[in-house]
Formats: sequence, structure tokens, C-alpha cells
Amino acid sequence: MLIDSHCHIHDKQFFDLSKTDEVLTHMHENGVEKCIVIGTDPLDSAAACDFASKHEEVWWTFGYHPNDFDGDKAKLEADLSAAKPILADKKLVAVGEVGLDYHFDGYNKDFQRYLLENMLQIAQDHNLPVSFHVRDAYDDFWPIFNNFHLPTSVLHSYSDSKKNMNAGLEKGLYFGVNGLATFADIVHPPLERIIFETDAPFLTPKPFRGTINMPGYVRNIAEWAADHYQQDFATISKITSENVEKIFKI
Ligand SMILES: [Zn+2]
Repeated sequence: MLIDSHCHIHDKQFFDLSKTDEVLTHMHENGVEKCIVIGTDPLDSAAACDFASKHEEVWWTFGYHPNDFDGDKAKLEADLSAAKPILADKKLVAVGEVGLDYHFDGYNKDFQRYLLENMLQIAQDHNLPVSFHVRDAYDDFWPIFNNFHLPTSVLHSYSDSKKNMNAGLEKGLYFGVNGLATFADIVHPPLERIIFETDAPFLTPKPFRGTINMPGYVRNIAEWAADHYQQDFATISKITSENVEKIFKI
């Protein structure tokens, strides 16, 4: 059994929601039994909640992507307070994606830090793990991370340095491995600390590069991992799925 721990198949910007059954059938045909849809702002998180309520094999997260906050603190407070009812939803399994992203020009460090601290407070208050999105920003990320007491959490789509990987390992974090591993030259965390994800519709693994990503392609990531870690496919599936089940309690 495999699990997609991070995808965006609830997002109508990317997926035709009248075809969700096809996406889920493809997922099951490939041995992927569960998936977690990831919110990227309060509205999108509400859509993720609604999507999960309609599909038994889907759970969701409450997130706010660092690049999506415009710095309006009053609006943030209003949005987070309006979201309180859905934070009690039984299929909510994490806060995320949240983090810091200094990759593209135009980012505002203060806005991003402010947002991250607010979101981590929610995670801490609700005792929820976090799916972190951190890009080119680990020096600023660690001090904020260290200020909170969070359940075992995940660095989604990890592709940073060996040094930051070791810091993450030391802090008990897990690492989201996706299609990037199949086509990019990145560091590889130890097998005991990885979970699979697709980040669908992005980062489609080999051999499907150039097409839209789907949760069923976790199978191809697992096949890559079986080869890379020199383990049989069943062992890889078991270790990574148990990691997901333990972290997100699904
Ligand atoms: Zn994502």
C-alpha cells in the first residue's frame, strides 16, 4: 500500500473536479490507497476540507503558502478566525503548506515570517503536525521552527543542502520525496525518515515528465526509491506508508 502525503487534486485551478473519480481510480489502480490534499490559503483550505468530506480515501490540511500572503494583518486575523469551525473537522490532519520561500523575486521576509508564526501557533494549539514548504530560506526558518513545540512534522519536497537535511534529521523531521528525486540531482534522506508525495499537479516523475501529475504516480516514485535504496518494493511501501500513518494519524 502506498500513500500520497501531499497533493492538490482538490484545486479547480489545476484539476477538472468533474473528473475526480478518474483521478482516484487511477490512484487505486496504482496501489495508492490514501492521499492528503494540501491547502494553500484559507479559501483553498476550505475547498480541501469539502473535497475530503466527499471522498473516503482523502484527508486535508489547513495551509497558507508563504508567497500568497499580501501582508494585510487585519485580513489574516479575520480569515484565521473565520476558519475556526473547519479546524474542528475530523479529516484535518495537519497545518500546511506553510513556510518561507525566498526563491522568486518580490517576496517580503517580514510578511512571510509573520504568517508562518501565526500558522505555527495554530498547529501548536491544535497539536497538529506541519507540512513545511521552505525554499532558499532555511537560515531564517530554523529559529522560527525552534520557537514552537510541534508534533513530528515534514519538510515537503525537500531539495536543500546536506547540512539542512542533517539539521532536520536531528530535529526529528521527516522528508517528503516526490518526482524531483526521479529527475533532479538532490540529496537523499535516509529511508526511515522519508514519506512519498506527488505535489500533483506539479513535479511529475519520470517517465511521465511533460504530463500533469497525479497521486497514482506515487508508484513511480516508490519504484525509483526501491532502486535507489536497494530495497524491495514491498518494504519501501511499508516503511513510507507507516511513516505517513504515524505522522498524520490516518
Ligand atoms: Zn504543494
